[in-house]
Amino acid sequence: MSAMAAGCAHLSGALCSQVLASVDALLFDCDGVLWKGDTPIPGAAQLINRLQERGKRVFFLTNNSTKSRQMYGEKLRSLCFQARPDQVFGTAPCAALYLRHEAKLRGSVYLIGSAALRGELQAQGIACSGPGTGPELTPGPGPMQAWAAEPLDPNVGAVLIGFDEHFTYLKLCRAARYLQDPACIFVATNTDTLLPLEGGGIPGTGCLVKAVEAASKRTAHVIGKPSAFMFECVVKEHGVDPSRTVMVGDRLDTDILMGSNCGLRTILTLTGVSTLEEAIAHRDSDSVDRHKLVPNYYVDSVADLLPALN
Ligand SMILES: [Mg+2]
Repeated sequence: MSAMAAGCAHLSGALCSQVLASVDALLFDCDGVLWKGDTPIPGAAQLINRLQERGKRVFFLTNNSTKSRQMYGEKLRSLCFQARPDQVFGTAPCAALYLRHEAKLRGSVYLIGSAALRGELQAQGIACSGPGTGPELTPGPGPMQAWAAEPLDPNVGAVLIGFDEHFTYLKLCRAARYLQDPACIFVATNTDTLLPLEGGGIPGTGCLVKAVEAASKRTAHVIGKPSAFMFECVVKEHGVDPSRTVMVGDRLDTDILMGSNCGLRTILTLTGVSTLEEAIAHRDSDSVDRHKLVPNYYVDSVADLLPALN
């Protein structure tokens, strides 16, 4: 049997002061960490504001693709968090940055996603088609023939999938047809299969991504956590040092795994999706892959970090 992994230490008292003193930057996931839906976690805003008063740099990393940087900045401020839009790294702006600067996209995007995602693409000078309810099929031959014969826009050089409440069979069909061209870039904002909500939640973007992957027999390049790309965006824009940065999140398979993938220390907060029991089961397993899902530390709530800052 391989050696048991370390991790899952309860972060409190002197250990908490020591960890906070050893970091310059803190990355926070939002939903399940700072708020649940529109209800803030008690003490979370106080913590974010106090950290910044103490000279710590704070960034917000969210897999949610339905909000622009500006919208996130407004939400944070409306819930009394001191934050500027440039501290927010969501999958909508990061997907646009990826297509513009990494994939060097020429041409436009066929988008399955939100108006906010379209806005972030436009902010990077990228045109797109697709979002919204979409035109109904014009009358003609049988609908299936129409779907197969519909002319494609020759200018489309990428397919981007984000959360889209207007996802339809026709959009799936179009995306798959664009992706038949191997030169067409295939990007997804994130692969979360559940959107946690009061009462259990609903299917997340990952379900739409899986549908397009199955239809196109291709695999999407993923922007969101656990991919390292959003952290790379933070480094590029703000120059943080991974060895003096901590990632705080409520999900082991996205937040904590991204932290592990980027060489960051990690804190699991128990106000969201993942449980301490799940983290301990990963820690006590023999799987090296599962050890990457183990946080260094856990807190019951981010508010538990406050006493160390007094
Ligand atoms: Mg979360």
